[in-house]
Amino acid sequence: MSTESTLRIVWIYPDLLSTYGDRGNMLILARRAALRNIPVETYEVRSDQQMPTTADIYLIGGGEDGPQALASQRLIADGGLHRAVNQGAAVLAVCAGYQLFGGSFFAKGAQCRGLDLLDINSDRGETRAVGEVRGDIDPRLGLPPLTGFENHGGRTHLGPGVAPLARVTAGIGNDGQTEGAWNGKILGTYAHGPALARNPAIADLLLRWAIGADSLAPLDDTWPERLRGERLAAASAV
Ligand code: GLN
Repeated sequence: MSTESTLRIVWIYPDLLSTYGDRGNMLILARRAALRNIPVETYEVRSDQQMPTTADIYLIGGGEDGPQALASQRLIADGGLHRAVNQGAAVLAVCAGYQLFGGSFFAKGAQCRGLDLLDINSDRGETRAVGEVRGDIDPRLGLPPLTGFENHGGRTHLGPGVAPLARVTAGIGNDGQTEGAWNGKILGTYAHGPALARNPAIADLLLRWAIGADSLAPLDDTWPERLRGERLAAASAV
């Protein structure tokens, strides 16, 4: 049984959107919470299950067009994620999951309706964006540069209701200029898979948002920082 102080993390629809090892983000968050002695519970909510409305952090990953369109339809019909966000839950939405948080996105040859939880719209790009993506994160978030791997056909256009997560220094992101978007406690990014392993400061930002803390006890991030260093160097060399 969870208690009031237990941090609850939901991974949305692993049966549809987990093509890129997105489960890693849940493991990283749970581990970094546990290392700070924050009690944590994780829930994997499949697309045939009702979406819990009272969790603290929701994670949604990348995927192919078909599962992306289906996930959007089911989340709209369910309504639980909208309630959770309106109640102040923190969100990390990656690639297909990021696109479907917007008003519309392109999948299976057509514009599809999204959740309208971020002021973004995505359409089809002329080329597929595949490879390292890197960017300087919005200074208001106070984080080191983003490093990630992207693989998407869509391009994302930001409305006035969101800010870019980062200014692109390598790769494509939304459109070659900006990468990802954020508003309130929602973060969207094209950085795939174990993005939080490569960007532990983003994991800690989500944890801080979720528990309402200005700071967290520092951790020994030697390994993640070495990995980040290698990736940042590789991205610079491209
Ligand atoms: N189908 C989307 C696109 O290609 C998302 C892809 C993904 O999640 N990798 O833009």
